[in-house]
Amino acid sequence: MAINVNDILSRLSPNQKVNYDKTLSKMIEEWEKSATKPTILLHSCCAPCSTYTLEYMTKFADITIYFANSNIHPREEYQRRLLVQQKFVADFNELTNQQVGFLAGEYEPSKFVRMVKEKELTEEREGGKRCSACFNMRLDLVAEKAQELGFDYFGSALTISPKKNSQLINQIGMDIQKFYDVNYLPSDFKKNKGYERSIEMCKEYNIYRQCYCGCIFAAKQQGVDLKQVTKKARQFLKEES
Ligand code: SF4
Ligand code: SF4
Repeated sequence: MAINVNDILSRLSPNQKVNYDKTLSKMIEEWEKSATKPTILLHSCCAPCSTYTLEYMTKFADITIYFANSNIHPREEYQRRLLVQQKFVADFNELTNQQVGFLAGEYEPSKFVRMVKEKELTEEREGGKRCSACFNMRLDLVAEKAQELGFDYFGSALTISPKKNSQLINQIGMDIQKFYDVNYLPSDFKKNKGYERSIEMCKEYNIYRQCYCGCIFAAKQQGVDLKQVTKKARQFLKEES
C-alpha cells in the first residue's frame, strides 16, 4: 500500500524545517522493508530536471515521466522541450536497461495565460505568486492523471532545480494530495549533489538546456529574445524530423 507523506512527517518534530530529502529516504526505506516497487507519475518540464531524478528513483520505483506544461511559450519551444524530454527517456532506457515511461498532457497555453491574467499575476517576479499558481496548475494535472491511471504516487522532478523553491513545491503537492486518491511523493532531488549530477548527465546525454523557465511573462522580464527562441526551436525540430 502506498505511504502517505503525512504519516512520516507526523513522526518528525513540528518545529523543524522539513527535510524532504530525508522524508523521501524514509519512504524508500519502507518500500524496501516491504519489498515493494511502487509506480510513480513524475512531472518534468524539460529533460535537465529529470536526469539525476531518474538515475536515483529508478533504483526503487517504476517511473513514468509526465510532460504537462501549458506554461511554455512559444509553441515551437514547447515542442522542442517535449522532444528533448522524450528522447532523453529513450536514451536513458537504452543505456541503463530501464523501462521509464513517457506521457505528455494536452498543450493548452491559453488556459495558462487566462489563469495568470485572472489572478492578476502577470507582473509577478519569477519565484513569486505566479510560479506558485503555475506549480499548482501543473501538479494538479499530474495528480489527476496519476489517479486516472492508477499510479501509487505523483511527484515532481523540479525540486532538483536550485532556482525552484522545493519547500513550496512539496507544500503544494501535499495540498493537492488531499483532493485525490493518490499519494504525493516528497522530494528534494538537489540534495546529495543531485543538481551537480544533473549537469554532468546533461553533458553525457547531450541535452539541450533552455535559457528561461518557460512562460512568456518571465521571458519578457528576463529580456529573452523570443523570436530567436522560435527560430532556433524551428531549426531544431526540422533537423530532428
Ligand atoms: S525547472 Fe527548468 S530546468 Fe527544470 S525541468 Fe523545468 S524548465 Fe527544465
Ligand atoms: S517563471 Fe516558470 S514556474 Fe514561474 S510562472 Fe513562469 S513558467 Fe511557471
